[in-house]
Amino acid sequence: MFILARRAFSRYIASSWGSAYTTCPAVARTQLLSTLAVLEQRDGQLNQGSLNAFTAAKKLGGTVHGFIAGTNISVAAQEAAKVEGIDQIIKVENEAYEKGLPESYAPLLVENIKRGNYTHVIAGHTAFGKNLLPRVAALLDSQQVSDITAIEDDKTFIRPIYAGNAIATVESSDSIKVITVRGTAFAPAIQESGCAAIVDGVDTKSDASVEWMSEDLAKSDRPDLAISSKVVSGGRGLKSKEDFDKVMLPLADALGAAVGASRAAVDSGYADNSLQVGQTGKVVAPQLYMAVGISGAIQHLAGMKDSKVIAAINKDADAPIFQVADVGLVGDLFDKVPELTEKVKTSLNL
Ligand SMILES: Cc1cc2nc3c(=O)[nH]c(=O)nc-3n(C[C@H](O)[C@H](O)[C@H](O)COP(=O)(O)OP(=O)(O)OC[C@H]3O[C@@H](n4cnc5c(N)ncnc54)[C@H](O)[C@@H]3O)c2cc1C
Repeated sequence: MFILARRAFSRYIASSWGSAYTTCPAVARTQLLSTLAVLEQRDGQLNQGSLNAFTAAKKLGGTVHGFIAGTNISVAAQEAAKVEGIDQIIKVENEAYEKGLPESYAPLLVENIKRGNYTHVIAGHTAFGKNLLPRVAALLDSQQVSDITAIEDDKTFIRPIYAGNAIATVESSDSIKVITVRGTAFAPAIQESGCAAIVDGVDTKSDASVEWMSEDLAKSDRPDLAISSKVVSGGRGLKSKEDFDKVMLPLADALGAAVGASRAAVDSGYADNSLQVGQTGKVVAPQLYMAVGISGAIQHLAGMKDSKVIAAINKDADAPIFQVADVGLVGDLFDKVPELTEKVKTSLNL
């Protein structure tokens, strides 16, 4: 009896969407649990980082669908469909959603969530996810569970609080659980031989009260800070923007690393806002994190302490950064960093 009921439910989920196009054989699913993973795109390019929502969704078990909206998103939808274990990609092609404005995107998402009868909605804990999901949760009368780092079961989640100084286990009793996931805790799902069906979602064509005017994005040919395996970060010890660029950029280039910065460095204008690492910046966990002229305040550590190897250069032997560093060098960064850069270049024949 129970099995019959479960099967009926899974059939309902599969048939509640419009026509699907796929060349794959249909996959029979019997779980009640069903998750919608919200994917990000920019100019039709799938944001690979947002595929961590799929990883978390697959950990939950049950049916996993992806959701993507914007302009010219067919290629991005096809890319997402290649992730193994995903049943369906729901796409809504409309310029109104291109910039991910939460005022129009949230009602769109809610309508699609209701239509799909999802039990869980997951997005990355990125600017997009942090902007969008609280509105979605409010519209669904659900309490969002934010920035989770682990999943215990379908209603119990682990999340750091107080800038990572305590770890909370949170149980949600909401019928639709709205969750954002920490990117460093769930690796982006890999696009392999998956063959999810791509279907058109409901377009609410919501008449938003806000209008997209313009954006001013920092452009860089360097690796993306959020996903790079090596990061070199500079702090207030760099003294000026000129010195930051003169000292840190050659080191980043020699190592093929992304550039990061402390909030003090960003606030002093040494580095762009988008490079800030920490509690109110980006959370990173690269293979190598090098902190140069950074004291190691807890708000900075909150953004990098899960890095695999932490190296620090600081002239103060008592700087707190050395308490978390695997490798430390006490000295003046204006001598040590150029010396290190030359040694890296020589060893790599650059
Ligand atoms: C709510 C809140 C949120 C915050 N969020 C963030 C965040 O997201 N990210 C963040 O980074 N901070 C954040 N902060 C700020 C944080 O508390 C610290 O003020 C900041 O991290 C300090 O940056 P810093 O280490 O570069 O500067 P400082 O603390 O001033 O440290 C500079 C270091 O450089 C060393 N130094 C100086 N000259 C040299 C030299 N020539 N050679 C070698 N070493 C040298 C000094 O010994 C010192 O250790 C936040 C604070 C609050 C209250």
